[in-house]
Amino acid sequence: MVVATGSATHTGLRRTLNEDAFLAESPVFLVADGMGGHEAGERASAAVVAEFRHLVDRPALVLDDVRAALARARHAVEALSSLDSARAGTTLSGLFLTAVDGMAYWLAVNIGDSRTYRLSGGVLEQISVDHSVVQELIDSGELSAEAAVSDTRRNIITRAIGAGSVDDADYWMFPAELGDRMLICSDGLSSEVIDGRIRELLATTGDPQVAADLLIESAIDGGGRDNITVVVLDAISVASRAGGTWTSDDSDIDADTRPREAAPGGIR
Ligand code: MG
Repeated sequence: MVVATGSATHTGLRRTLNEDAFLAESPVFLVADGMGGHEAGERASAAVVAEFRHLVDRPALVLDDVRAALARARHAVEALSSLDSARAGTTLSGLFLTAVDGMAYWLAVNIGDSRTYRLSGGVLEQISVDHSVVQELIDSGELSAEAAVSDTRRNIITRAIGAGSVDDADYWMFPAELGDRMLICSDGLSSEVIDGRIRELLATTGDPQVAADLLIESAIDGGGRDNITVVVLDAISVASRAGGTWTSDDSDIDADTRPREAAPGGIR
């Protein structure tokens, strides 16, 4: 699979430090949102990126590679906590390009409340599930999704790398399709910009870097109360089951100008 990418990060308007970090080098695409006082969060998210950077340019990446990198990242973050007694921790959400029987697949990983979305056929779907108190309350029926947006507990996460958490990440694999547009972001985007607006920006902007910049701008306009990080990736060439490769050149529309109309049903 070949992807075109755009990425951007911003400290936002209220914070003095940017504790988010990201990596967008094939086949590794991820966002980490660090937490903990005294620069611990910044160091935690950077440590995770440094560990996953070892997977860049690795051909034929498999789930075990990602699991092993996550285990090493966890050790690195826990070592930070024991060094300076600050409880360093970080989220991790991301995508890895992989293949099964010659077919291109996305391998998604998530721990915490950074998010991974997929825009396909004009429909935006959040494919990661937040590990957060608010998500648990929604799942148990105690809180509506509408009320969750302004709930005071919305920043409390239930899993992390470090920060005393021992729970594992979630992993998913699903076939990549030509034209898939994926978004990985920290909560500085998703808590400032509603999904409908995110969908609109992703669906109407061709170039992934322009889309990334517009998403950041939109979060700043929304208040910019947190660090904001976005990685946008477009599947522009995808290996098919028959052994052939579909690329955007095979279709009669250009990848950068392809109209992305809303599908019936809208956001799922
Ligand atoms: Mg954040």
